[in-house]
Amino acid sequence: MKSNHYRVVITDCDHGSIEEEKGEFSLIGAELILAQVREEEDLIRACKEADGLINQYALLTRKVFEGLPNCKVVSRYGVGVDSVDLKAATTLGIIVANVPDYCIDEVSNQTIAMILTLIRKTAFFDRKVKSNQWDFHLGVPIYRIHGKTLGLIGSGRIGLEVAKKISAFGVKVIAFDPYLQKAGEGIELTDFDTVLKKSDFISVHCPLNESTRHLIGEQAFKKMEKKPILINTSRGPIVDEKALIQALEDGRVSGAGLDVLEKEPPDPQSPLLKMENVILSPHVGFYSVESISELKRRTAENVSAVLLGKLPRSVVNQEVKGKTRASIVS
Ligand code: NAD
Repeated sequence: MKSNHYRVVITDCDHGSIEEEKGEFSLIGAELILAQVREEEDLIRACKEADGLINQYALLTRKVFEGLPNCKVVSRYGVGVDSVDLKAATTLGIIVANVPDYCIDEVSNQTIAMILTLIRKTAFFDRKVKSNQWDFHLGVPIYRIHGKTLGLIGSGRIGLEVAKKISAFGVKVIAFDPYLQKAGEGIELTDFDTVLKKSDFISVHCPLNESTRHLIGEQAFKKMEKKPILINTSRGPIVDEKALIQALEDGRVSGAGLDVLEKEPPDPQSPLLKMENVILSPHVGFYSVESISELKRRTAENVSAVLLGKLPRSVVNQEVKGKTRASIVS
């Protein structure tokens, strides 16, 4: 194969090294260029010769796509493709690909870690002991985990993995997921209100969209009967933060574990930062050394696949099939 036959451009990325991606493209003799540009004109200039793009934050608008006559595929680092004008890409025959499942293990573990931390009050006791307070009575009551019920809001890839893992603790799992006909193993599908009413822990795993924004709001908190612990490792705006703060202050919710917030980072004045029964992490659920390495490799594989005439593992704009700029043989 002729060396540097194909040209792939990474529009922008904050991953430090691009050695994994380079390794992947060297297998097909493609040249890889890291442009680190985000403005429309700069993107067009840097990518106009590109056969394929890898993208992180730069907005790929219709105008950008119209300036890239050779571009056959864009692969986004991650799950979301908000940075890509999907309609324009589809009209122009450009395949848009993503990597939807590189961090299922990490996010499900983040969820389980938050549940255990809140129940066993490990972060709370750590703070007490380090401030010379050696007294377990400071943390009573603590309840047993075995026999409790976890309610999932959304039972896709991550929800399912959380269910699998938490069942080892003797926890029953129920779920609300309006798009599923059949529950995963060990999960009982039910309605939204039943999840709110019967759960000791509620964990959010649905996507953020117009129908899920503030899904867990004032009305939902009013329906929670068991003073549950709320975990959100999905997207901040699914939970109405003002209503959550009120529910925590009223004792309607007994604790919260939040990897994601409505505003990231939070306002330094947010009451959530001062509550002993709230644990926070900086949207880190997706991250491990291994998950990022997998993400980089698979993002590159999506582009290589198209350059070799195959469809990538995960095509976001399915409607592009049959009218792609690349000749796909499959
Ligand atoms: P997925 O698409 O496999 O599952 C989402 C599930 O939510 C689907 O089964 C869907 O039917 C269901 N759903 C859709 N609308 C719903 C609604 N209104 N009510 C209840 N359920 C609904 O996605 P996933 O891989 O399990 O990821 C779940 C979410 O986790 C993602 O949308 C993303 O926002 C978030 N996430 C967070 C991190 C992090 O770093 N914290 C990392 C990756 C993903």
